[in-house]
Amino acid sequence: MAKVHIDAVRKFFGDVEVLKNIDIAIEDGEFLVLVGPSGCGKSTLLRSIAGLEGISGGRIRIGDEDVTDRPPKGRDVAMVFQNYALYPHMTVARNMGFSLELKRASRAEREAAVRKAAEILGLTDLLGRYPRQLSGGQRQRVAMGRAIVRDPKVFLFDEPLSNLDAKLRVTMRSEIKQLHRRLGSTIVYVTHDQVEAMTMADRIAVMHGGVLEQLGTPQELYERPANRFVATFIGSPA
Ligand code: ADP
Ligand code: MG
Repeated sequence: MAKVHIDAVRKFFGDVEVLKNIDIAIEDGEFLVLVGPSGCGKSTLLRSIAGLEGISGGRIRIGDEDVTDRPPKGRDVAMVFQNYALYPHMTVARNMGFSLELKRASRAEREAAVRKAAEILGLTDLLGRYPRQLSGGQRQRVAMGRAIVRDPKVFLFDEPLSNLDAKLRVTMRSEIKQLHRRLGSTIVYVTHDQVEAMTMADRIAVMHGGVLEQLGTPQELYERPANRFVATFIGSPA
């Protein structure tokens, strides 16, 4: 059974329809990339899954629960943004474990979860540092660590690498892929970068003007683009 069901989701901002009847079933453990030009509705769809944005029509299910009317807290998802917004006055360890403090987890539980996430992300030696003492890539790792510590049903990434330089972006792509393989988690990853989409995705959802143009594997999109927009965007010869 699919992990996330996006069923006929529509979203209006005022009179403007920015999500037009979107249907996607995201499989358990799948790395799904939402890709499309700026303004096509990617963040709005991701925020709708997270519950940060109410939808105007349709339903959203996570696991076997209909979460359409639930606030973000009731959805068991963790979102990683491009401006990672770490707490400057907290150490790396506390930044990563803070959500568990809010959930009143025991100190031992917190420390174990932080230690495990730090090990996965290569942050073990940096746990005592403050965000200002970290590089951009290290900060991005801490932001991912915060999400991992929560052990969510679904990870939501909104252009997490767009503030990094080109070289670091390439490194971080493969780190995120390794993370996915290691955790086996379900990931919805937003980018406007088709190379990122083609190299990271199990399946790609191509959006354009609030419409889902095509959903398929990188190879399917490349070999059999549904229309000219997809062909041009993906860089397919077809
Ligand atoms: P993307 O992430 O693909 O760049 P967005 O989901 O951020 O696109 O935006 C989709 C459309 O919705 C854009 O036209 C944007 O201007 C509009 N939009 C996004 N958020 C709001 C908002 N809070 N109020 C009004 N319009 C918005
Ligand atoms: Mg966006």
